Amino acid sequence: MANDKELIYGIDLGTTNSCIALVGEDGEPHVLENYEGFKTTPSVVYYDDMGNVLVGDEAKRLMNGDAEHTVAFIKREIGNKNYNREIYGEKISPLVISSMILKKMVADANDMRVSEGLEPIHKAVITVPAYFGSTECEITRQAGEIAGIEVVKLIPEPTAAAISYGTKDLEGKTFMVYDLGGGTFDISIMRVENGQLQELANDGDHHLGGVDWDVALANYAFQLCGIDVNYEEIQDTPEAGRIILNAEQSKRMLSRNSETNMKFNYKHRPYVARITRDAFEDLMSERVDDTIMLMRRAIKNSRTPLTADDIQEIILVGGSSYMPMIKKAVEDAFPKAKIRLDRLKPDLAVAEGAAIYASTGVKVKMVSPCSYGIGCFVDDREVSSHLINKGDPYGTKNNDEFSTRNDNQTSVLIRVYSDRANEQNVPVSRCAMLASKPLEWGKPVPKNTPVYITFHLTESGILQIYGECGGNNVVFDLDVEGASQAEVEEARRTISNKTI
Ligand code: AMP
Repeated sequence: MANDKELIYGIDLGTTNSCIALVGEDGEPHVLENYEGFKTTPSVVYYDDMGNVLVGDEAKRLMNGDAEHTVAFIKREIGNKNYNREIYGEKISPLVISSMILKKMVADANDMRVSEGLEPIHKAVITVPAYFGSTECEITRQAGEIAGIEVVKLIPEPTAAAISYGTKDLEGKTFMVYDLGGGTFDISIMRVENGQLQELANDGDHHLGGVDWDVALANYAFQLCGIDVNYEEIQDTPEAGRIILNAEQSKRMLSRNSETNMKFNYKHRPYVARITRDAFEDLMSERVDDTIMLMRRAIKNSRTPLTADDIQEIILVGGSSYMPMIKKAVEDAFPKAKIRLDRLKPDLAVAEGAAIYASTGVKVKMVSPCSYGIGCFVDDREVSSHLINKGDPYGTKNNDEFSTRNDNQTSVLIRVYSDRANEQNVPVSRCAMLASKPLEWGKPVPKNTPVYITFHLTESGILQIYGECGGNNVVFDLDVEGASQAEVEEARRTISNKTI
């Protein structure tokens, strides 16, 4: 992808932590430290009452006592049109927060380069979860651009992780990447053929990640200490942030030791809960099983028919893969597969892979994480008639013929839906609406006049839609958008008024 002189960062914009890497002159990927000297940066933003923002470690530290003015886990909200939060009267949007995080990542990396007499870099490959649809991808790209970064390409996180493990090593193999991060779970089944990565299926869960283990551990500690409260009930109190950090630290201890003491304060009283790894594993067994179920579902939905025995290797990435219960469960469920877990890098692999991709341009062929369709009526019930199915390869172009419902129609309202299921004619109440725009041809036409619609899922995963009303030769073009132009402008203004 890059020519000789072009340097491009690889950025893992994570739910809990973000990471930036660059391939050096030695041809190897290097994770770059942030200003604070760490290889990963918490994806957390803190607002002070003067209108300033802090991004990263300091924001995470301040979150303890001041959760009200802190934004975390924003990636879970990308694409959520109903996200509605204000801090000090300022509207918070996933676009703005993601942009701030990206700006900090690149600014820190560039400061270091400039201090070494090197040119700053303004281009990046950014990773996104495999299950991100067209809208989420587009918002991520917009966030990068608002942060002053030319987003050369978005690539799925599991693909980046696989690249970091080396496509040569995986040549001719069918393998799965299991990526359990802080807030999200992502899986992808892939195959490497002649150095080209071909995705066969992907799946995941926006709301499954390390934080669920933290919350369960906090609740368990409450129970052991006889405190009759649930973390969810106190999560907006000033003490909650500290308790969840204590739980996270204990969780990390349990990855190394068979028991630990979780110390915490509740209502200004100190407590100690003695927690064993066995008890913690029992507590989380259902969540672990959920991840195994999603792995099996991905196998079932693969583009080429697969069974569990066809999976030759499973690569464990994401910080939560450090937990021994994960490796154990995956090994038990897939006894024939070789399990790979590089102790040094589950949380760095994605950024490294993105940097390698940026510098070498490994060929990647992805499949769609969702089905896309248009709303049409079947017996007065609106359903999404899919033109792109979950699992269709990027580059797919499909068309279909619909018809007008009434005499003298001069337009139809095209409603575009996405959906995670792979069934046809799903009721629109189960789908997400991506766009809605009239296709107009001006001249009244009789009932049942054909309307031709084409969906094109581009090689970069962006959905483009064309429409035409039979006989009137009207061509209609609708790019499914991320954030609206007004939101982008507002985000640009907000970012330019802040020092990050
Ligand atoms: P990531 O988004 O990949 O950086 O993963 C972050 C998640 O990994 C957080 O929930 C962390 O608590 C979790 N994590 C990191 N290290 C460990 C560890 N040693 N044991 C258990 N969880 C960990």
